[in-house]
Amino acid sequence: MDNLTLLKDRLDSKISAAYRRAETLINRPRNDIAVTASLTRVCNARCPMCPMHNMENNQWQHMDDKTFHRMVEIFKQLHNRYLALHSMGECLAHPDLKRYIDILRDNHFWIRVSTNASLLHRHMDTMLRVQYLRYSIEGWDEASLKKYRNLKFDQVYDNIKEFWHFSRGKVSYPIRLAVSFYPSMTEDNIREFTEVWGPYVDQISVSMAYNPQLNHTQRFRAPIPKDKFGDYYYMEPKQGPLTCGYAMGYADIQPNGDVLPCCDDYAGQLTLGNIHEEDFMAIFNGERARNLRAEFEQGNPVSCGNCHTFYDFTDEAKQHLEVLRGIVVSTHDKVRRNRAA
Ligand code: SF4
Repeated sequence: MDNLTLLKDRLDSKISAAYRRAETLINRPRNDIAVTASLTRVCNARCPMCPMHNMENNQWQHMDDKTFHRMVEIFKQLHNRYLALHSMGECLAHPDLKRYIDILRDNHFWIRVSTNASLLHRHMDTMLRVQYLRYSIEGWDEASLKKYRNLKFDQVYDNIKEFWHFSRGKVSYPIRLAVSFYPSMTEDNIREFTEVWGPYVDQISVSMAYNPQLNHTQRFRAPIPKDKFGDYYYMEPKQGPLTCGYAMGYADIQPNGDVLPCCDDYAGQLTLGNIHEEDFMAIFNGERARNLRAEFEQGNPVSCGNCHTFYDFTDEAKQHLEVLRGIVVSTHDKVRRNRAA
């Protein structure tokens, strides 16, 4: 990528960020709708926490040009220039990713990408053009990356290391890494994890993996007993009224143009409509969307079955997460000091 393009992108990023801040202040009503996209439903990893691999009717599909251009028009109509492409699937697996990101940048979009990094070597230049880049990784060596992601360690490690060196002085965003913990990971594993990836990222965020059995396709809300919960931190049913910010004000555009209320609806059971058949706002405010929101307002969200949103990690698990977070923070600080020395 030439220096002039890089300079133009940086300037544009600053303008986009200022524009977004101004938009927030002005609080334009149509921007209250949070919209994201799944550029693809294809994924080359296999994560134990992901419900996608356990569903018979998952659409293994890339977004085509017609849907992409329609989606861009919708974002423009909503005055929304912030586009997360990765709700489901591995967006770096899309064969037209470079062309699409070039189009989005030409239209002054602010682009967010989250990736498992296994295909990063194909998109080094393209990732200089996004404004937010996050790796999602569990694993610190060949065996663990296979267990938690079913990916090849050497490929992911080489990609992340190479992109770190390649991107120095060329990007203004921090490189992020997100990790979800499983009970089978020990404190030593987490230290090792941070030592392996820490030199090549600016920030590490931590969370706990959700049990994929807790999803909306399960129509009854029978809690899973603790001893059957598997390698996931235990979650208890939430007390009090059940709410979901996704159902109330979010939409995700799928590769086939379907609009879903959330990125947990891998099975498409909550599909609100399709952008090739109806105007986006007619879908967003349509009967199916209203019915779903009414279920929450009436305190009985039956359509969402056994979604993890209706559960909470135990206090014990939350306290443990804080211990693990502390290990990540202190280890990463040490790694960064060594990197700077
Ligand atoms: S409760 Fe779960 S399935 Fe229902 S809209 Fe919210 S995130 Fe989606």
